[in-house]
Amino acid sequence: MTMHCPICNCEYQNNITICPDDGGLLTAHRPPTNVTSLTVDIYAAANEIEAERIISFLKDESIEATHQQSELAQLPSVNNNRFLITVSTPSKEKALRLLTNARHDGIITTSGIFL
Ligand SMILES: [Zn+2]
Repeated sequence: MTMHCPICNCEYQNNITICPDDGGLLTAHRPPTNVTSLTVDIYAAANEIEAERIISFLKDESIEATHQQSELAQLPSVNNNRFLITVSTPSKEKALRLLTNARHDGIITTSGIFL
């Protein structure tokens, strides 16, 4: 049975009852949140290949992420199109932590920027 954390919305399998990340008590059903309206951009990847690598990396950690191409006109230091990584707001802290580790471990390059 797939269990869901009501705090970070992560999914877990089988015998786990407490979320290892935030201590949330897992439920058998996905919490009835309209997750799509509770998303936040966390990272601007340098290119689409990296964006897709990040998304599959986050999916491996049970974080649903999407990306969209965007021009960050509000960031004057960025002169190229960037690929924004979007996650559900409750997953933000975990996703940022994972991305920080991924950069440190060389899984993704350091050419992206945290938002
Ligand atoms: Zn959790």
